[in-house]
Amino acid sequence: MIRINENFLKLQTSYLFSNIANKINEYQKANPESAIIKLGIGDATRALPPACVAAFHRAVDEMAEDDTFRGYGPEQGYPFLREKIAAEDFQARGADIAADEIFISDGAKCDTGNFQEILAGNISVALPDPVYPVYLDTNVMAGRTGSMKNGRYENIHYMECTPENGFIPDLPPESVDLIYLCFPNNPTGAMISKPELSRWVDFARENKSLILYDAAYEAFISDDTLPHSIYEIEGAREIAVEFRSFSKTAGFTGTRCAFTVVPKECMAYDSAGNAHSLHMLWHRRHSTKFNGVSYPVQRAAEAVYSPEGKQQVKAIIDFYMKNAGHIRREIHDLDYEYMGGTHSPYIWINTKSDSWEFFDMLLNKAGVVCTPGLGFGTCGQQFIRLSAFNSYENVETAMKRIHQIVRS
Ligand code: PLP
Repeated sequence: MIRINENFLKLQTSYLFSNIANKINEYQKANPESAIIKLGIGDATRALPPACVAAFHRAVDEMAEDDTFRGYGPEQGYPFLREKIAAEDFQARGADIAADEIFISDGAKCDTGNFQEILAGNISVALPDPVYPVYLDTNVMAGRTGSMKNGRYENIHYMECTPENGFIPDLPPESVDLIYLCFPNNPTGAMISKPELSRWVDFARENKSLILYDAAYEAFISDDTLPHSIYEIEGAREIAVEFRSFSKTAGFTGTRCAFTVVPKECMAYDSAGNAHSLHMLWHRRHSTKFNGVSYPVQRAAEAVYSPEGKQQVKAIIDFYMKNAGHIRREIHDLDYEYMGGTHSPYIWINTKSDSWEFFDMLLNKAGVVCTPGLGFGTCGQQFIRLSAFNSYENVETAMKRIHQIVRS
C-alpha cells in the first residue's frame, strides 16, 4: 500500500497567501465595483530593466540558430553569470567569494526550502518569529518538528523578534545546529548591523552550527555601512550559506533567477563527528535534482551587472523605496509604531489589535490588502505588513483610504 509522508499532515492546512486570496475573492464577489489595492504579497510590479530585456532577446535569437543554439547548460550556472556575481556582489565589497562557490538556481524560495535536505533529520533548528514561512514549513515536511501546539511547532527554537529587541533576534541560550537569518528582513523590514551579525557568526563558529542567511532583499539596503552579505563578516565562510535572488532586485519574480553561495570551507558533520564539505554535498544534490536555469534567463540576469543595468536597477529600487517612504510617513502620522521601509520594501506595523481583524477591516472598509502578521508567526499577532510593490498612485490612494478609516 502506497503511504504518504505524514509530516505533511502537520502543516497548517492553508498557506498564508492562499487564505488572503480566498478572502479577496469573497470580497470581490460581494463588491464587484470596488477597486482593491494590493499592498500584500511582495511581488514586483515594475517591468524588467531594459538592459535585461535586450539581453534576453539577444539570447533567444541565439537559441533560434543551429550555430548558436544551446542545450543543457552547466547545472550550477554559466560561468559568465557566476563570475559577474562573484566579482560585483562579493569581491567588490571585500567578501572573499569565488565564482565556483555560486550555484545559480530558479529561485531563493526553492533554495531556502531545499537546502535543509542535505542536513540530518534530528538536528535542532532555530527560526526567527515572525519569519518567511518557507523555512519553517520545509523543516516540518522533513520531520524535524513535532506537531503544532498553540501556534507553534514542537522541537523548534523560535527566536522572538519584537519591538523590545528591535526585531533582531537574541542569540539562543544554548547551542543550536541550524539557524535561519534573513536581512533585510521579510516581514519586519529590520536590518542587522555588522557588529550584531558578527555575534551570530561567532556563536555559530563556537557551536559548529550552520547559518542559512537569506539576503533576497539586499538591493534595498540604503546605508553602505550595513552588511550586504554575511561574508563581509570575518569567519563567516566556515559557517554560513547565503541565498540571493534577482526577483526583488530586478523584477525577476516571473522570470526566475537566483543563487546560493556555499563556500568551500563550510562544513557539517556526520554522526562520528567527521567534517564534510557542504559545498560538495550541495553540488551533488544540485547536479542530481536540477538541470540549470535557461540560457536566456541567465543572460538577462548577467545584464543586471552592465553599466546600464546597474542604473536601471537602481532606478527601480529607488521607485519602490519612494513608495516605502510614503507609507512610512503616513503610518507615522497615524501614530502607529512601525519598523522597516528604510532598507526593505516592507513596513511592519503594530496595530495593537488582532492582525486578521485588522486585515479584514482594511479590506472591507478601505479595499486595501495587507498581509496579517500572524501568518508569519505568533509574534506577528498584532502586526500587519504593508509592501511597497505597487505604483506610486496606488500607494498614495491606499494610504489616503487607510487614513480616512483610521481617523474616522
Ligand atoms: N526569501 C525571502 C525572504 C522572500 O521574501 C522571498 C520572496 O518573497 C524569497 C526568498 C523568494 O525569492 P524567489 O523569488 O527568488 O524564489
